[in-house]
Order: sequence, then structure tokens, then C-alpha cells
Amino acid sequence: MSQNESTAENLNVLTSTQAVIKEALTKLGYGSEMYELLKEPLRTLTVRIPVRMDDDTVRVFTGYRAQHSDAIGPAKGGIRFHPDVTEDEVKALSIWMSVKCGIANLPYGGGKGGVICDPREMSFREQERLARAYVRAISQIVGPTKDIPAPDVMTNSQVMAWMMDEYSRIKEFDSPNFITGKPIALGGSLGRDTSTARGVAICIREAARVKGISLEGSRVVVQGFGNAGSYLAKFMHEAGAKVIAISDAYGALYDENGLDIHSLLERRDSFGTVTKLFKNTISNKELLELDCDILVPAAIENQITLENAYDIKAKIIVEAANGPTTMEATRILSERDILLVPDVLGNSGGVIVSYFEWVQNNQGYYWTEVEVETRLEELMVRSFETVYNTAQARNIDMRLAAYMVGVRRLAEAVELRGWV
Ligand code: GLU
Repeated sequence: MSQNESTAENLNVLTSTQAVIKEALTKLGYGSEMYELLKEPLRTLTVRIPVRMDDDTVRVFTGYRAQHSDAIGPAKGGIRFHPDVTEDEVKALSIWMSVKCGIANLPYGGGKGGVICDPREMSFREQERLARAYVRAISQIVGPTKDIPAPDVMTNSQVMAWMMDEYSRIKEFDSPNFITGKPIALGGSLGRDTSTARGVAICIREAARVKGISLEGSRVVVQGFGNAGSYLAKFMHEAGAKVIAISDAYGALYDENGLDIHSLLERRDSFGTVTKLFKNTISNKELLELDCDILVPAAIENQITLENAYDIKAKIIVEAANGPTTMEATRILSERDILLVPDVLGNSGGVIVSYFEWVQNNQGYYWTEVEVETRLEELMVRSFETVYNTAQARNIDMRLAAYMVGVRRLAEAVELRGWV
């Protein structure tokens, strides 16, 4: 840390998100009543989930489902399996989903779910039993016209398949439109698995354009090698950039001449773990501070904070993870003229193609991959332009601009319904 900053930084993602929501609403001319309604999810359900483990013991897991708003349409958002899940985190993630859907103009409010568990230490069948039991526990408040889940940290298309099957059994009719991010054979959309990374890549391209940086030969650092991070590294490599570092939860790999991304992709496990196979690793902290052009945090929250914001050397940061940069760090980066594309815009490709998947399920008519990608490209470019132009016009950072764009339609819907 430098520049005599105080260490008393707010790392609670809920209260720090509330502060930005408040600022965005104030700038849009809304008063305290609107803020009172939008500062918390409308509904948060806590569930206790008993699961019989392979050794015949029963473990009781805690899970959550938060629904921030249904003013615009059903709630939408992923479910994460992670040991550090908390109620406040799930609530904040549901607010971020509302803002994200607002920016992309999707007919959804935000939702989010989480279960406190470590799937890396559970067998395949234990994960299946947990996924099904979680759906049974939340089944009354979710559904294709109420709240539509999707994958998030450490859940994938297989988990979505179990959850869809369980929900369909409970309701006694086939319900592919209950959940998105499914395998193709069960009504998933072509291009959903790569969509978050494609959206991030589009934002990188647009950000590089406005910054006057050429992607060809640029140095890219990616933190996290899960769904978003691994495909992003691949796309950047294919675009002619040099991916000089990647990481997972255990460490980071660095080569100033560029890493062999294809071989790393082949060797990663389904949770994105790969660095354990190597001896010469650096830490995640060192990775974030590497000299590079583009930094993509694609792991978890609170990675760029007061501790390291002055030491970041990238010119552009595009957030593929949700909440990787604290609000204080956002301010410092903006003062340092580092262009930060916030999560609610940067990673919105995932929920955009989830929306396409849900539309296809509702219609029973399936699109080609080219159709999916063309529409994703259109929406991402439009979202980027709207947020960037708002930031320029008001002389504010892109996070605040994104919140203003995202929350505006939600507030309007709330008013039209006569809630506030
Ligand atoms: N979990 C992803 C996100 O945070 C995708 C959500 C969705 O597709 O509904 O945006």
C-alpha cells in the first residue's frame, strides 16, 4: 500500500454496492424512497440442505436464493457453490444482476443463489445430490416466469442439467426454461459456454479502441482460469495478443514471452485448476501487479483493493468476475486514468446469452451459433457505447455510469407499477 491511505476499507460487497446504487439514484434525481426499495433484494430465502454423503453420513449445507427485483420481469442470475458464500454476498450479487440486466435491456430483474460448500472436495454423485436438494429447497420461489437460475462460480452445465431435471420432476412437466447454461442436448444454447468470455473480449476490443491501444502483441494478464478466464485467454491468444500470465486459486503462471494457452486449456481440470502441475509459480498478488496492457480479473471479489490499486500497471481492466475491484480502488484507478470496464458491463455476455437460451426454450425454436454471436455482439457493443458515453458526458467513472444506465429502467418500472 502507498500514498498514506487508511487501511479501513469496506470489503463488504453489499454495503459498498448500496453506496453506488445510492449515488446513481441521486444523480438520476430519485429520492430516498426509491433507494430504500432498491438497496436490498425484495426476497432472500435461506435454506438448510441435508445431503447424504458417499460414506453414508449426512452433512447439512446452507444455501441462499436472493431476488433483488421483479419489477421488470422474472429474477435472473446464477448459483455458486463456494466455501466463502455469505448471505450479504448473494444479496450483492443479485443487485449486480439487476444492474447488468438493466444495461443490456433484458426483461429481467436480478437474482442470485449460493451454497456454502467446496465442490472440489465432493464426489460427482455428492454434487448431484446437493444440486437436486438445493432445487427442492428453493422450488417454491423459482420457475420460468418467476426466477431463472444459471451457472456461476464452480457450477457448470452438468449441475444445470441435474437442477432442470429435479425441477421438471417436482412440477411434473419438462421445464427447460427453468434454468439456463444447460448442456446443448437438454435445450442449452449454442455459444452459451463461451458467451461470458466473448462479451469480455468485445469490451477489451472496444476499450482498446478508445484508449488507442492495438490488441495485436498487447500483453494480457488473466486472473482465474474458470469458464470466463480460460475461454478469454484462448480468445485473446487467437486475437494476436500475448497472454503473459494466468492464475487459479492456488497460484499463477507467468512468462513474459507469452504462455502456451492451448496446452494449459488441455491440462486444466473442470474447476479451472492448473497451476498445481507447475513448479515455477508466482502468487495471485504478484500477478495483479505485473507490467501489462490489459488486466482481466476473472476470479472472485475484492482482488483489487486499497492495498494494490496504486501498484496496478495495466492500462485497461475489464472485470470478468463479479466484484473484483473495491469501490475505493475504483476511485484510485480512475484518478490514475486506468480505464476500468465494470463487471455489470464486462461480464454481461453470460446473462445475455442466457436470455437467448430462455427465449429459444420458450419458443422451442433453436438458433445457429452465428445468430447467437451476432446478436451478442450487437448488444455488447451497444451496452459499451451507452455506458462509455454516459461516463464521458458526466465526467464519471464507468462503474458509476454503468449503475446509472442499469438502474434507470428499473426505477422507471418501479414508478410505473406505483410501488414508489
Ligand atoms: N452467473 C453469471 C453472471 O453472474 C450468469 C448469470 C445468468 O446467466 O443468469 O452474470
